Amino acid sequence: MHLLPEQKPHETGSDFELSPKLIRENDTTPYQSSIVIDAERGAALAERLFQIYSNEGIFGKREMPEDYPPKGVKIGSREHLLFLTLTVAIDYMRNADALWESARKTFEDPETQFVFFPERLAEIPLREIENVKSALTKYKLALRPNRDTNIWLTIAMSLHEEWNDDPKNFLESMEFDALKIIEYLTKHRTKYPNLNGEKIRSLWLRMLRDNAGILLDNLEKVPIPVDVHITRATLSLGIIRGNFEGTLDEFREVVANAWMESTEQLRKSGKHIISLDLDRPLWHLSRNGCSYRGGTHPESCPKFEKCPFREYCTSGEIKIKRKGKHQYWVHLKT
Ligand code: SF4
Repeated sequence: MHLLPEQKPHETGSDFELSPKLIRENDTTPYQSSIVIDAERGAALAERLFQIYSNEGIFGKREMPEDYPPKGVKIGSREHLLFLTLTVAIDYMRNADALWESARKTFEDPETQFVFFPERLAEIPLREIENVKSALTKYKLALRPNRDTNIWLTIAMSLHEEWNDDPKNFLESMEFDALKIIEYLTKHRTKYPNLNGEKIRSLWLRMLRDNAGILLDNLEKVPIPVDVHITRATLSLGIIRGNFEGTLDEFREVVANAWMESTEQLRKSGKHIISLDLDRPLWHLSRNGCSYRGGTHPESCPKFEKCPFREYCTSGEIKIKRKGKHQYWVHLKT
């Protein structure tokens, strides 16, 4: 199968890219006029987040929506890697629980399972591409039918043509090195739409480790996948303070750097915690806690009394709202 021009993937554009600005470690100079990263606070919180998540979970929660493979799929198998790789590529601007549930249903239905197998997609004549779209939308796996189908098919065809239908062949060829994987995806970005984006590729690499049990080198150099939840929890904990008004895309690098600097401090003191280790705890903290905060004071959060991080909870205006179809807006005044 070869995609028609109108079926070519959309350029992901700024939706998934970090801005090129950088923040130095321990930098207390103003960023975007008044933002500072408190890496010392971040280091203390990183250790605590990791410990509490590992021991009892955040508000008792540890599971992520992607943690359950479809029935009959063996963890770490080719099927599992294809399930994770293709699904994560369309994990943007949508509810993660619904996405992964749709993916499981699509895989478990014999009529729609074929979409997870590049070799089967490659056999489908172009005139029957609507069948792929129908299969991807049957359980609402593709929420944006044209765009998501294009992304899906482009990645599947790249896996078919370059890696013999198995993501593991790609990882092997990259010598299981996260930096080589990122370099390759960046260089071949049109063949791996979305998967090459900063947020999604970090998420994918974390899933390969956590869900498929694949050990990768240099994971400590991979930034945390910054989404709405990671941003909200990071701001509520006061690791980034000051004033900011702008899109999440513009703010993403600040959040990624905050955790990179914080965990670097920890590793210098001999504690091996990396940015990616904080994705799960921060996601749960926001989703089950910070998201419900109603006002500018920490006490306006209904989880305040039970929150194991309440002494770090920061006063001020922290709002992350959806703006239009493709964007989130960050308002910070702390
Ligand atoms: S008290 Fe609420 S808003 Fe503050 S850190 Fe805890 S969960 Fe988040």
